[in-house]
Amino acid sequence: MALLEVRNLSKYFPVRAGLFSRVSGMLRAVDGVDLSLAEGKTLGLVGESGCGKSTLGRSILRLIEPTGGSIRFEGEDMMALEGAALREKRRRMQIIFQDPYASLNPRMRVGDIIGEGLEIHGLASGTKKRDVVMEMLHKVGLRDEHFYRYPHEFSGGQRQRIGIARALVFRPSLIIADEPVSALDVSIQAQILNLLFDLQREMNLAFVFISHDLRVVEHVSHRVAIMYLGKIVEIADAETIYREPQHPYTRALLSAVPVVDPSRKKTRVVLQGDVPSPLNPPPGCSFHPRCPDAIAECSRITPDLLAGARGHAVACHVHGPGAVQMGHAH
Ligand code: SF4
Repeated sequence: MALLEVRNLSKYFPVRAGLFSRVSGMLRAVDGVDLSLAEGKTLGLVGESGCGKSTLGRSILRLIEPTGGSIRFEGEDMMALEGAALREKRRRMQIIFQDPYASLNPRMRVGDIIGEGLEIHGLASGTKKRDVVMEMLHKVGLRDEHFYRYPHEFSGGQRQRIGIARALVFRPSLIIADEPVSALDVSIQAQILNLLFDLQREMNLAFVFISHDLRVVEHVSHRVAIMYLGKIVEIADAETIYREPQHPYTRALLSAVPVVDPSRKKTRVVLQGDVPSPLNPPPGCSFHPRCPDAIAECSRITPDLLAGARGHAVACHVHGPGAVQMGHAH
């Protein structure tokens, strides 16, 4: 059974305009997303900024309320839970942010920051709380004396370790990691990625790892989903995405990544234009104004995300598993 099963998840934001703030449109930040994730595995979720990946992460946690769809987590229907039951289940899914410093209270000692949630939720206090916090400090590579220090005394990488420890005290089974290394130097990025990988094995953690950078998720992901204007356009095992990308958007993202392995083919695809506004997405395939392979259908018919071999799904009239059918029809 999957740890997390997301079906047809949507999040629309009403857009208001005019004197009486009438709703004049809907911003479809997340538009019919299906995902599943097994225990102890990582799903990389990649796309340019504004594609809806962070909104999707927060919708899964119900930190923002989805407009529609279903979320099953540890066998429970998350959308049906309310109040205490929702809070309890939500503790099993935690989030870590790009900039943990923004959420670390500068006047609190690190030990108190990490242990605060335990006290609030009535899970531990006093010496029990202290023991849990110390254990988590050690797990993330910090030392006893760090317990008594204040956030400003730490480097960026150490602050991210504090953010991770604060999530781990709840012993979650799933962590939504939203650009957790984007603000860090490259050398520090590798340390934090290794830490997350070690913690995954040690604590059987599953991750949804959100990034704008395909290179960052490559070595930590088991599966990778590519998102464009609120929809998943390609999803496959990590190796397949990097070796045999199908969707023109995935190919363009990959060709923008510097490649170290010379055995990999590299034809540079330069993306034309900017990401269109999700307020007014292009009809048909929303990637068509930027796509080098677009055909006439692309501006009229929205391609479905169709699964091919080994769960490799692609939403594209030309490169998806449905492409042959399309060819016969015309
Ligand atoms: Fe390009 Fe058409 Fe495929 Fe969209 S459906 S990615 S426009 S070829």
